[in-house]
Amino acid sequence: CGIVGVLGKHEVSPLLVEALKRLEYRGYDSAGIATVNDGHLDRRRAVGKLINLSDHLVRSPLPGKSGIGHTRWATHGAPSVTNAHPHRAGPVAVVHNGIIENYAALRDELRAQNLGPESDTDTETVALLTQSFLQAGDSPQQAVAKTLAKLEGAFALAFLFDGHDDLMIAARRGSPLAISLGDGEAYVGSDAIALAPMTDHLTYLEEGDLAVLTRHSMQIFDETGAPVTRAIESITPEA
Ligand code: GLU
Repeated sequence: CGIVGVLGKHEVSPLLVEALKRLEYRGYDSAGIATVNDGHLDRRRAVGKLINLSDHLVRSPLPGKSGIGHTRWATHGAPSVTNAHPHRAGPVAVVHNGIIENYAALRDELRAQNLGPESDTDTETVALLTQSFLQAGDSPQQAVAKTLAKLEGAFALAFLFDGHDDLMIAARRGSPLAISLGDGEAYVGSDAIALAPMTDHLTYLEEGDLAVLTRHSMQIFDETGAPVTRAIESITPEA
């Protein structure tokens, strides 16, 4: 339902939780964050209000300067910790807004490769597909591009990768997603409200776009894989 992602200069968990609070107005049933810390990908998730996630983080902190976060409005699979985002498969974690229409067929394909799902969500198939391409030797960017080509439905997605402290990949089809490059930081958000206090400008991805972000670069590719330029807009102060 709500997405935020930050490649930051400081500990990112508090920033992510704060951004998720600003996205509460959209409604949600569970929430979670994932970070990469010295190359190590990990996550925390909780059902119910964000205070439950915050409490969990107090008991079990999640260090790292790179992170993604999500508030979930369940469409496939009951609200539960297992079904909450970020979804993880091996070296990849993903947050998703929208619906993957062909997830049942994809699950069958993945099961045939012994990549069994843990959750009841449509989203987990995205993580599993990306994992399968990574395992076959693809780079994160290639693996995500090949994953997107297999998806039907509407989505905004943000990915983090184990072993990659300075990489975040974002993609959109049907659900809005904005990205922004700051002063040695990079951001992803499902709307301007998520990003407003962190940056004063953003770029909305267009249909089929895939964005590769590091702290110092932002590259956007259209669905043919061609590099494209998208407009940079100012965030109005009241946003
Ligand atoms: N379809 C996904 C799920 O049920 C994402 C829902 C959302 O947009 O929050 O987990």
